[in-house]
Amino acid sequence: MKVEFLEPQSLQDAVAMAKAKGVGARFVAGGTDLVIQMRKTGVLPEAIINLQRLRALGEIKHDADGFSLGALVTHRQIESEDRFLGGLQALRESACVIGGHQVRNVATLGGNLCNASPAADMVPILLCFNADVTLVGSSGSRNIPLAAFIEGPRKTQRAHDEVMTDIRFPKPAGKFASAFLKGGRRRAMEISIVAMAGVVSMSAGGTMTDVRLAMGAAGPKAIRLAQAEKFLEGKVPSKAVLEEAGKLAAAAASPIDDVRASASFRRHLVGVYARRVIELGWNRISEAGNDRSAA
Ligand SMILES: Cc1cc2nc3c(=O)[nH]c(=O)nc-3n(C[C@H](O)[C@H](O)[C@H](O)COP(=O)(O)OP(=O)(O)OC[C@H]3O[C@@H](n4cnc5c(N)ncnc54)[C@H](O)[C@@H]3O)c2cc1C
Repeated sequence: MKVEFLEPQSLQDAVAMAKAKGVGARFVAGGTDLVIQMRKTGVLPEAIINLQRLRALGEIKHDADGFSLGALVTHRQIESEDRFLGGLQALRESACVIGGHQVRNVATLGGNLCNASPAADMVPILLCFNADVTLVGSSGSRNIPLAAFIEGPRKTQRAHDEVMTDIRFPKPAGKFASAFLKGGRRRAMEISIVAMAGVVSMSAGGTMTDVRLAMGAAGPKAIRLAQAEKFLEGKVPSKAVLEEAGKLAAAAASPIDDVRASASFRRHLVGVYARRVIELGWNRISEAGNDRSAA
């Protein structure tokens, strides 16, 4: 079967091409998910619409309200972004463990989110930062919270002619830190067995406040761990407190058995990583001091 390869020069052209070609057309950014799926299933789209010429979608911007990352921003850009040091460092930590160097040079943030794998490594930290995504299609533009955009494994709210243009999040206020941990059988080129991200702030009284925890690869989609977050609020992270938070996190997991790990090992790892991520975030706030941790 012949696949048509289209190269729109503008966002409007990309949307118009997708609308004209219908559901048989697919957008491509880095191609590191799409091409693998095409090879694996043998199912080819009727048309591939390349987004790479839409250069404006490849920028990282920030203003007083927060950050905006274009959907074509690569994982390499994120892992080497100086603005993501200090409190935002879990963004770099999430990006730098995706695939190997060659993958990160071309694979994009938008592709990671639109592909909606339960193990997509950028999702947990962006859930912690309460990110929204912007979609532009033939019916106009809309913003959706990332938590609602991803509905399940490989399932999103995106209509076939909608391009994800950017991902925005407000910077948490005050003294905060973030951390990300990825569990796998080896350190590189590994799909996560469990991924855990956390953001923690310190109150004037020296307790945890605005605690945010999200896990990936331990259920049909990455989710925030609301019960563990609520339990940690207002507390100091003692051993007993962290252990209880780990139990609450593990109870929220709904992992599966697969070739990479058993469900019971994944659940165990969720508990361990929830504890460690909070401890790591807390240590970062305590060590860095107010100005640097909140940078
Ligand atoms: C060797 C290897 C290792 C990997 N390791 C990891 C890993 O450790 N962690 C991890 O999370 N992922 C990993 N991946 C998966 C992949 O690299 C990432 O998910 C990547 O971010 C996908 O981005 P992409 O630009 O290549 O997406 P593409 O393959 O171009 O697209 C993926 C999907 O999203 C759609 N899409 C892409 N961009 C847009 C857009 N702007 N608007 C609308 N739809 C869009 C496409 O139509 C397609 O359905 C790995 C892949 C490979 C090949």
